[in-house]
Amino acid sequence: MTVSFLLSPEQEQLKAAARGFAEEHLRDLAAAVRAEPDPLTRALLARPVFEKAVGQGFLKGLIPAPVGGAASNGVDAAIFVEEWAVHSPDFTISMAGPLIALAPVYEAGTPEQVARFVAPFLADSGAPLAAMAYSEPEGSANFDTPTGTRTTATPDGDHYVINGRKAWASHLSGWDGDGPDLMTIVCRAPGGISLIVAEREHLAGHVEVEEHLDLPGLRGCLTSRVRLHDVRVPKANLLGAEGQGAALTRNAFLPSGASIGIFAVAAMRGAFEIAWRFATTETRGGPSPIIDHQSVADVLADAKGRIEATRLLAWRALDAVLAQHPSAPELALHSKVFGSETGVDVINDLVKLVGVTSYDARFPIVEYLDEALAYPIIEGSNIGVRRRQLQDLFRAPGYDPLAASGMA
Ligand SMILES: Cc1cc2nc3c(=O)[nH]c(=O)nc-3n(C[C@H](O)[C@H](O)[C@H](O)COP(=O)(O)OP(=O)(O)OC[C@H]3O[C@@H](n4cnc5c(N)ncnc54)[C@H](O)[C@@H]3O)c2cc1C
Repeated sequence: MTVSFLLSPEQEQLKAAARGFAEEHLRDLAAAVRAEPDPLTRALLARPVFEKAVGQGFLKGLIPAPVGGAASNGVDAAIFVEEWAVHSPDFTISMAGPLIALAPVYEAGTPEQVARFVAPFLADSGAPLAAMAYSEPEGSANFDTPTGTRTTATPDGDHYVINGRKAWASHLSGWDGDGPDLMTIVCRAPGGISLIVAEREHLAGHVEVEEHLDLPGLRGCLTSRVRLHDVRVPKANLLGAEGQGAALTRNAFLPSGASIGIFAVAAMRGAFEIAWRFATTETRGGPSPIIDHQSVADVLADAKGRIEATRLLAWRALDAVLAQHPSAPELALHSKVFGSETGVDVINDLVKLVGVTSYDARFPIVEYLDEALAYPIIEGSNIGVRRRQLQDLFRAPGYDPLAASGMA
């Protein structure tokens, strides 16, 4: 079989549909979000667009086909994410909640659980939300140590009663403060770290919003700090067995980790276009456009090469993750770590190319840096979580350095 990186006619259609939606809705949304100072008000601006996206089938595109959705393969996902994220990565992250929150459901859920928990996200209308409640205000990198997860699930007859504080995850509060439609909660049960799925009916009245966080980039993401108090969830909502939660949580962040490479590509692509246009049109008082200076052209050349390389890595990582190939964990981690750090470096270089003009808030390049700065930190920070996962892979018995590339 030959390997082709050319987009198929179907992928060209998908790109056009995603680009059309982004240009029609996300560009204006991003401008409105930029102008609104209050974190809750600006996050709620996304709701009408969210409903439109659901109506056009984009949410189903995040749900795997075998469980009723329309997600086909990793390259399709990458195309769709890039086209949206170049205009509004915050909106894209907000919609992608099911990608993380439902991943452990697919991995460990019973057929009945899968059908019940996926159902709200197969809707053709509304704005259903899913949150993966892993992070806690006091820290999450050491969540699998004896003191690392403070949220508890106490058995009470046929139920667990969950108490604790969670932070950062998109849409912990839901649209109205009563929680999302589904929250996958990382908690400590008697048998160890466990994942329990709370549905809206369990959360309403038991989620206290302590604060909506004001992010420097990705400003439309509704990230909050909440207290869960006495959330009563049937024991039938435990995923797998008590004590299985640490491994399920690590795996839950694989698809989103792989996608971070594409979010970084989207930010680099946006910044490159601005810097390239500047370099080819601005003389800055000299005799010809600044691209005629070799040093300026070199910055563009290095940036473009790194964008193309990151895109291919992320395509491959997402492809492996969606196909559940054994190379998926390592490739997803490289897409996350390498992609996110390349994004920051490339955009920083492009800002330097533009020079002082870039430091006017009306000139739209530093906002891409604000976005890119989030990517090494979110979805498990590169230092606290992701490089440690690579360390674990490298020291696992039988690790083969050529396996991820398929060249073993
Ligand atoms: C827009 C946005 C969306 C997010 N979405 C979600 C979501 O959907 N769900 C969710 O649960 N969270 C979410 N988060 C939080 C995000 O996933 C964080 O990566 C996560 O909370 C872990 O943060 P951390 O790795 O910095 O851990 P912390 O525990 O806060 O660690 C802080 C730092 O300490 C150091 N450190 C700590 N322990 C170690 C160690 N053992 N080894 C080496 N260094 C260490 C590292 O430098 C680390 O960066 C989101 C955040 C943002 C901004």
